[in-house]
Parts: sequence; C-alpha cells; structure tokens
Amino acid sequence: MEASSVDKLPKVELHRHLEGAVRPATILDLFRKNCGMLLNASVEDILPEVQIVEADRSLADFLAKFEFFMPCLRSAEDITRITREAIEDCAAEGIVYVELRFSPVFIKGLTGLSYVDVVEAALKGAQAVDSGPIVNFIVIIPQPAGEKAGWDSVRLARDYMSDGITGVDIADDTRVLGLEEYVRPLAWARANGLGVTVHAGESEGPESVRIAVERLGATRIGHGVRALEDQSVIALLSEKGVLLEVCPTSNVHTGVIAHIDEHPLAELVRRGVAVCINTDDPGISGITLGGEYELAHRILGLSECEIVKMNLDAIEAAFADERQRAGVRSVLEGIGS
Ligand SMILES: [Zn+2]
Repeated sequence: MEASSVDKLPKVELHRHLEGAVRPATILDLFRKNCGMLLNASVEDILPEVQIVEADRSLADFLAKFEFFMPCLRSAEDITRITREAIEDCAAEGIVYVELRFSPVFIKGLTGLSYVDVVEAALKGAQAVDSGPIVNFIVIIPQPAGEKAGWDSVRLARDYMSDGITGVDIADDTRVLGLEEYVRPLAWARANGLGVTVHAGESEGPESVRIAVERLGATRIGHGVRALEDQSVIALLSEKGVLLEVCPTSNVHTGVIAHIDEHPLAELVRRGVAVCINTDDPGISGITLGGEYELAHRILGLSECEIVKMNLDAIEAAFADERQRAGVRSVLEGIGS
C-alpha cells in the first residue's frame, strides 16, 4: 500500500565523481567548441560512447567512457562549467549535502592546467551556484600514479582546506599499484585534518578494505561491497564504525555485481554495517540518486526509514564541519527549512 516516495527524500551524496558527472550535452558542446569535432552529431549519437550500454560490463569498459570524453575538457572555464552544472544537477535531485570528488593529477595530465588552476576552477564552479546543496570537495589520488602523485594531491588538498576541500580519496584503476604505496601521504593528510576515504572492496577483494582501514586510516570506504567475502572484515567495519559508500548501479556497470537484484546492500544493513547510497558516476551510468533510492526500495527491499537512517549515518560520516552537519541533520529529520 506504501506509495514510493523515496526519490523525494532530502538526500546526502558522499560519493560522486566530478569527472563522471558531466552532462552528455555539455560533452558534445565542448567537443564542438574546443576540438571542432562532432559538429553534426546529436546527443543521442554520442550516448553509447559516453554512457554505459548493455554490452559494457567491466571496469575497463567503464574507464573507456572517460577516455572517450575527457579530451573535450581543455580549460579552467571548462572545469568551472562542469562543476557548476554537476552541483545544479545535485540541487535538482534534492541533494542537500554533496561531496564532489575529482583528481587534479588526472585533469592536469589531460589539460596541461596547473594543480592550482584545476582546484580553483572547481571551487569557482561551486561559488557560481546560488542556491543548492552544501558542497565539499574530495581530492582523488589516482591509484596507478604512485606515491609522488599522492603527496602532490594531499598537499594540494591541505592548501585549500579553508575553501571547502575536506578530504582525500584513492581511486581509478586499482589493479596496478597496491594501496600500501600511499600509507605515508595519507597519514600526513589525516594528521592535517583531512578526511580519508578509499575505493576498496570493488574490483579488489576484502583484503583491500582491511588495508584501507588499518593501514590508511580510512573512516569511509568507496564501495566496499566485497567486504562480505570475509566475515572478519565485516567485523572490523562494525567495530571501527566505518561507513561504506555503496553505489548499486555502478557495481552492476563495472561487473562487480551481476544483476541489481543480487546487490548486497540489504545484507550489509542486516550485518550492522553503516552504509549510504550513492551514484558514483551519474553521467556515465545515466542515473540519478533518487533513481538509486527507488532501486534500493523496490528491488532491494529497503524501507523509507532505512534510507533516511542511511542519510543520517552519511552526514555523521561526512567530511563536514559541525555547523554544516547540524544544518543537514535538521533538514533530514524534517525540522529544518
Ligand atoms: Zn568512485
């Protein structure tokens, strides 16, 4: 009898990649303006290149989408634009608090912009949105890039803490270098007050989750669903109160989970692990956060109450200051404006 209204809930999004949240129409526009390409193409024409289609079922397929469209980004203005649009899209989805993550190392390699230019362009994009969610940023260390890229990233994040960069992450292709490579820069990041989340337990098994928590001091894990393969890792997550940033459709799109109805989100909740629901790369997956709530509710059997509780857990685990946390909590509890 319960009419589904979970997509209307006020939302907290902790795991959304800026580079994976670019609108297809913007990709087309930037290819035309910056590269003189795709002049006669429509948005529909480029969708199979920039969004997951039925045949794409691996991390490599997923990363290939980035490889196709990232060359359309050339300037600081482009970074400002995609950041502004990503935040406007969050506002339209009813998101009241978002942490957008991006990799200055990756964008610098792509565009030739300096680290400072990349970060300042993103911050400018956030400032351009008048009314929208509270926004904080996470700087990503691309895992294959090595320890020096790790140091560059954490120092950059530290330099912009007062401007809204509040955490660091390790992401990208996790098959090349081990997470242990980043023990020292992440210890420095934590000592300087930055939050630490790490992509683990996705393409890699439960041991990657253990390393992220025990060696890198992560208080949150990006994905982490494969922690379920090792009961001792589940116990570790519960004991330390580590929150998993679960991204259901993304897990299907990268081949971690075969079908959405096999997704273990409800199992994690039953095991007492703190979780929240996220989109990961909404542009590439062609999804919204409200749509993910609908999946969690209708297909995975989570109640509206459980989803509200996830958002409350998410804001507790957010890399936010106390004032931001209190404001969001009051909205989630329905006593705010
Ligand atoms: Zn991710």
